[in-house]
Amino acid sequence: MKYGFSKRVRYLKSSAVRDILKVVNKGDVISFAGGLPDENLFPVDAIRRAFDQALTSDRKNLQYGETEGVMELRERLASRMATKGIHRSPDDILVTSGSQQAIDLFSRIMFNRGDVILTENPTYLAALQVFESYEANIIAVDSDDDGMLEEDLEDKIVRLKPKCIYVVPTYSNPGGKVWSLERRKKLLELADKYHVVIFEDDPYGEIQFDENESPPSIASMDNNRLVLYTSTFSKTVVPAMRIGWIVGPHQIIRLMAQAKQASDLHTNSISQHALIHLLKDFDFDGHITTLRKTYLERMNMMKSLLDSVEGNQIKYQIPKGGMFLWVNMPEHVNTTELLSTAVDRGVAFVPGAPFYVSNPQQNTMRLNFTNAEPEKIKLGMERLVTVINESQYEFIT
Ligand code: PMP
Repeated sequence: MKYGFSKRVRYLKSSAVRDILKVVNKGDVISFAGGLPDENLFPVDAIRRAFDQALTSDRKNLQYGETEGVMELRERLASRMATKGIHRSPDDILVTSGSQQAIDLFSRIMFNRGDVILTENPTYLAALQVFESYEANIIAVDSDDDGMLEEDLEDKIVRLKPKCIYVVPTYSNPGGKVWSLERRKKLLELADKYHVVIFEDDPYGEIQFDENESPPSIASMDNNRLVLYTSTFSKTVVPAMRIGWIVGPHQIIRLMAQAKQASDLHTNSISQHALIHLLKDFDFDGHITTLRKTYLERMNMMKSLLDSVEGNQIKYQIPKGGMFLWVNMPEHVNTTELLSTAVDRGVAFVPGAPFYVSNPQQNTMRLNFTNAEPEKIKLGMERLVTVINESQYEFIT
């Protein structure tokens, strides 16, 4: 049978990371590849109680619900965001099936074929997948460790007239970096000057290692209704509940809600009601503190083992939060090629190349430090360091 698919399927791509995960999640390979939280830290008892309460308190919790999301959840989200300087009404919030759906719905209502979207390079792979599926023209802006470079950003805004600038400014995926305050302000200033919408994707903002170092979100500095801000409970509660949200200009949120109606009517109601109970009865902030502490210890452990690579030839920036260490190997190393040797030795990572919009750096890799427990991190990193050392030796001889 020959199926008559739409032209659009040409732009659907399988994620290189998901393809790698299928291979490495087998046998005794220790994987630093996925962007996964640690399931041993999931607050299972509290989640069970919250679902129990959601199921027994009102049968309507199992009914169809509002597309925008359960009002009480949106109210709680609005007050939680207010404590972080984002002051918006619950009517400006759309509850989504994870942040991923927020990226998709936004793209659906914004992009025509060829519309330009500016991003960092590298950036979140699954956002690139979405933008490509809507045939947007993704252009990378030059950046350094502090964020996008002003000159290149302004030049590309003026020349290419983008519809949107997509950024993950806080503990990014994959780079693990955090934009400086100056660069955040500059981005906002330029977006304002040229009337461009900013899409701020912030799944990792809560996973912050230094209490005193809390960069304000770009949305919290926005007085001109330019920023859409999305976050999620995937990293702080569990990904399986599939609850994220997006807040921003009401006109955009309203259209996104219409697109959501056509897509899935509404986000899973019982998960939303359970989450309301969880936020009421469980020490959510205490849980986040535990996550921060545990993940910081793991990052430090991974980092100190990386430091034992011979010859000090690898470079990385110490993450201030989030879930990833981004490693630059010596120029001659191709991490895609290195991966198969590493998997044979029982350890996996994600090669950096697929995260690039253009000019992929083949010598980069992303290491996740949150999923594996300390003994596994130790063993996995010993394996990885051996593979790296051998690859350098091969080059030298
Ligand atoms: N944005 C970024 C930058 C991410 O890393 C992720 C998760 N990998 C998401 C969005 C989507 O998260 P979720 O759909 O689980 O909320």
